[in-house]
Amino acid sequence: MTYIPESLRQQVTERAKGRCEYCYLHQDDTYFSHEIDHIYAEKHGGGTIGENLCLACADCNRYKGSDLCSVDPQTNTVISLYHPRRDQWHEHFRLLDTGIIEPLTGTGRVTERVLRFNRVDLVAECARLMTLGKYENLI
Ligand SMILES: [Zn+2]
Repeated sequence: MTYIPESLRQQVTERAKGRCEYCYLHQDDTYFSHEIDHIYAEKHGGGTIGENLCLACADCNRYKGSDLCSVDPQTNTVISLYHPRRDQWHEHFRLLDTGIIEPLTGTGRVTERVLRFNRVDLVAECARLMTLGKYENLI
């Protein structure tokens, strides 16, 4: 694990407004603190610089690991995962009022599957936060 200076950690956290940049859960609403993710892992040449870093919840960071892409189940082609610095969340996903994050594109589909956005525990938590008005307003 690479050392990330505290000032850079703080910049990344503030830029994300404390939200996971993949599933958009706020770090105040999770048990474990959010982590700094290398969007492109160091083993793929990704640097420890602001443009390659994002804030990720522990689950998204764990499921993503060093992955960069996956096979789209609809087209059977290799597609890049959602890139928080280059992609717009709303172009690839839509939050349903059930707490499910619906993928809208190939990038959305591969990211939803690899990061397991719609696992039962996360959907239930998102739905619970939505009833409290703490989730949909963040997206
Ligand atoms: Zn997340």
